Amino acid sequence: MPTRPASESVEATGLTAGQLQLPLAGVGIVAGEEPRRITLGDRIVPYLLRRGPRRTIGLSIDHRGLRVGAPRRTSLTEVESLIRRHSEWVVEKLDDWRTRRRPEPVALRDGTRIPFLGGELELHLAVGSNRAIWGLGTLTLCLKPGVAPGAILEKALRERAREHFTSRLAPLAATVGVTVPPLALSSARTRWGSCSTRSGIRLNWRLIHFPEAIIDYVVVHELAHLRHMNHSPRFWALVESVCCDYRAARVALQRLAAHIPHW
Ligand SMILES: [Zn+2]
Repeated sequence: MPTRPASESVEATGLTAGQLQLPLAGVGIVAGEEPRRITLGDRIVPYLLRRGPRRTIGLSIDHRGLRVGAPRRTSLTEVESLIRRHSEWVVEKLDDWRTRRRPEPVALRDGTRIPFLGGELELHLAVGSNRAIWGLGTLTLCLKPGVAPGAILEKALRERAREHFTSRLAPLAATVGVTVPPLALSSARTRWGSCSTRSGIRLNWRLIHFPEAIIDYVVVHELAHLRHMNHSPRFWALVESVCCDYRAARVALQRLAAHIPHW
């Protein structure tokens, strides 16, 4: 935990009785609250800035996201540098809330549809030897009696994700100007990719639920780290040279993350 000057206060607020209920972001903004965004590492974090008669800058995070209270005369630079100093805490708490808010599990039945490469995949259940058969927009899970479909579905999606990532790596690596790195799959709920010059790149198989352009952005992002192991302006310029819509992709990625199916 970074040390803080005494004038900063940072707290995670829960839903306590009597707490002022603000409208959800996007629905309406309370007077005096200014919606803003800040980039923290790989993330664009929206927040509400509220200036008022107070003496310190305070950060709070709950199910509505990050809110910042600041004295009237505080500059935006001061506000942002405080958020940046606590970026690890901010990202961690936001992830906590996001995981708590995750959608209901999907019931895997014959005919269930799940998001897949920007469209939908219709699942069919059949009796068989625990394997999956791909069709046009369909996936048939052939299950031994009594076997739940979840594990077979995940295995099939992981295989498909690996194929898709592999097919994108070569052309995108050439555009980024790096050699094709080794690929591994990950399954963290809140991290889409990571990169190491030694072991190559890891991509989250759950990206297979997202549109191809979004997946391309994540691949390009990790490949670009092979040239710049940071999020410097040169890194983002490289990302943008390959993926000119990368800002929209980053925003979409966060929106989509809230709707990843699980079962
Ligand atoms: Zn990055």
